[in-house]
Amino acid sequence: MRDGAATPKIPGVLQQRTLRSISHAVGVGLHSGQRVELTLRPAPPDTGIVFRRVDLPEPVEIPMEAEFVTDTRLASTVSNGNAKVQTVEHIMSACAGLGIDNLYIDITADEVPILDGSASSFVFLLQSAGIVQQKAPRRFIRVTRPVEVREGEGANLKWARLEPYHGFKLVFEIDFAHRVVSSTGQRVEFDLGRDSYSRDIARARTFGFTKEVEYMRSKGLALGGGMDNAIVVDDTKVLNSGGLRYDDEFVKHKMLDAMGDLYIIGKPLLAAYTAFRSGHALNNKLLRELLAHRDAYEVVTFDRESDAPEGFAEVARAW
Ligand SMILES: [Zn+2]
Repeated sequence: MRDGAATPKIPGVLQQRTLRSISHAVGVGLHSGQRVELTLRPAPPDTGIVFRRVDLPEPVEIPMEAEFVTDTRLASTVSNGNAKVQTVEHIMSACAGLGIDNLYIDITADEVPILDGSASSFVFLLQSAGIVQQKAPRRFIRVTRPVEVREGEGANLKWARLEPYHGFKLVFEIDFAHRVVSSTGQRVEFDLGRDSYSRDIARARTFGFTKEVEYMRSKGLALGGGMDNAIVVDDTKVLNSGGLRYDDEFVKHKMLDAMGDLYIIGKPLLAAYTAFRSGHALNNKLLRELLAHRDAYEVVTFDRESDAPEGFAEVARAW
C-alpha cells in the first residue's frame, strides 16, 4: 500500500491491518550488545508478520509461525536455515496488542533491539506509522477445546493452557522465590477486547537479578543490558532510580512476553490463556500442542463486525 493511500473498507467485515507508512528504529541487542537497525514496512494481505535479515548477502525471510521457533532458553528465537532472529517477543507482543496482521520487519542483525526493555517503543513506532485496514477479512485461530502443557512438579511445576473463549483473555501468575518480586502483585488478568494493551501492559520492562546478570555477562550474554532497558534487582531492592512503572510490573512483563510468544502462531487467537510460571519454552510448546490437534482449533473470519468479540473492532482503532 502506498503512503497515504485511502483505506479500502469492506462494509461490516473485520479486516486485516498493516501499517500506513514505513517506520525505523536503531538500538542494541540485549544479549549481543550489537547495534541493529529495524525498518517496519507495510505488507500485503495474508503475508503475516515476516522478519527479513537484510544484512545477509541474500536477504532471508523468516515468517512468524510456531515451527520456526528454534530456541527459547533466554528469549524466543526464530530461524530459517542458518538465518536467525533472537528476542522477537516484545515486538510480536506489540503487534498482537495493536492487532497488526501483516508486516515486514527488516533487520540488520540477529537480535531485535531491546530499546527500553518493554513493548512501548514498538507500540510508538507502529502507531506513528499509522495502522490501516486492508481488503481482506482478519483470520483468527479459534480454540475449540482445552489444550494444556505442563512441566515439573512441586516447587518446579509450571503449566499453560488454552481454552475456548469468544475474545482473547489472559491470566498469568508468577511465583518467584525472591522477596522483592514476591512482594509485588503475582497475578494479572488482561482482556484484549476490554482493557488497554498500550496503557496496561506495553510499558512493563524485562527484569534481571544482579547475580544472574554477572553470570550471564561472564557467558557473553546480556551485554546490551542495563538500567535503561531493564529493571535490575539485587537481594533486597529495585536498583533503578525511578522504581517500577507499575506496582506489578514483573508479572505484567511476563504477560507481555506471553502475548508475543503466542502471536508467533501467525494469527490472532480467540481463546482464554491461563498460565502458571510459564515462559518462552512452555508457551511455544503450547502452540505446538494446539497445532498438533486439528480438532482443537479452527480458522474463522467475521463477516459482520457485530459477530466479532466485543471491543475487537476498536482494538487500536485503524483509520
Ligand atoms: Zn520479555
